[in-house]
Amino acid sequence: MTANFRYDINPGRILFGPGTLDAVSDEITRLGAKRALILSTAFQRADARKLAERLGSLAAGVFSEAAMHTPVAVTLNAMAAFDAAGADCVVALGGGSTIGLGKAIAWRNDTPQIVIATTYAGSEVTPILGQTEDGIKTTIRDRKILPEVVIYDPTLTLELPVAMSVTSGLNAIAHAVEGMYARDRNPVSSLMAVEGVRALRDALRVIVDEPADLSARTSALYGSWLCGSVLGSVGMALHHKLCHTLGGSFDLPHAETHAIVLPHSVAYNAQAASRELQPMADLFGGPIGGALHDFAASVGAPLALRDLGLEESQLDIAADLAVKNPYWNPRPVERDAIRALLQRAWEGARPE
Ligand code: NAD
Repeated sequence: MTANFRYDINPGRILFGPGTLDAVSDEITRLGAKRALILSTAFQRADARKLAERLGSLAAGVFSEAAMHTPVAVTLNAMAAFDAAGADCVVALGGGSTIGLGKAIAWRNDTPQIVIATTYAGSEVTPILGQTEDGIKTTIRDRKILPEVVIYDPTLTLELPVAMSVTSGLNAIAHAVEGMYARDRNPVSSLMAVEGVRALRDALRVIVDEPADLSARTSALYGSWLCGSVLGSVGMALHHKLCHTLGGSFDLPHAETHAIVLPHSVAYNAQAASRELQPMADLFGGPIGGALHDFAASVGAPLALRDLGLEESQLDIAADLAVKNPYWNPRPVERDAIRALLQRAWEGARPE
């Protein structure tokens, strides 16, 4: 029998499938807007410009300085560009960094957002904004932050490099795995988590050999939508706390850190949440920590924090920070056990 639950469903419009990029003009108009500021990173500037050309007079301009961790200084420049161009909505084309910039603008001026998601990070379906100022990353959750429209066009992911596809996919899987034992989980979030991980597991196995396989790319994006939706609706635990600490304090790259830490953080919780994690263990074919490690290795993911440049001498500080203001977690967060977990993640050892 299903226990009592509460489920706050995020509103939003999802357009999914190859070719959905063609809908951007109609979506701008549907929102009652007339001039969209297109956002991207410098790396995706050419794609953003191409989109602006296609949109013609509906494009107010391109701002292509989005950066990892959403620095407030960049947001303020983007706000100035938004006002100078007379924009009345934003179109974010890219991954979590670009989407974060759109959210940061919307949080300040409540502009409508259309997101064209091109990685698997999942930010496009969450009302969460992480931004950095003076080296400190803060997280805000607000209704204004949730994008109004999300377009998932898998043809835009065909050139996402394999290494990034793998780590970004594991980042998405991490949302779903932690969603399984979230205190505020519900039957729908758990269904989405299992289906999302199944889709990503199967898709990543193909993408490593055939990066331009449209069917696998479509499945991966479908899985990332589901996993992102889990992140957007239930609370995260130890794994996300560890990754925020490592990313924020030691400037480790986001997706790679998630990919490396996940088997270890989930192994830490495996006994305390054995019933909740059983569907994930079934998907990966064994006790979840080791099975996820083997899966990550099989798709060529990085396995050791030392390979990201973290020094062994920093592990004590990381453990101290990780146990400060811990998120709720199914197993008590104990400093010595966390230090041991970090050691294994640093070495790239297979979890017990
Ligand atoms: P990213 O957005 O930083 O992208 C990495 C690089 O890949 C960029 O240069 C980008 O332009 C490029 N790229 C993106 N899509 C591409 C494609 N299809 N083809 C070729 N290149 C492409 O990476 P990310 O992992 O998507 O995002 C990480 C950021 O997102 C972090 O700052 C993280 O904190 C944030 N995030 C936030 C949430 C949330 O809910 N608030 C959720 C997940 C991630």
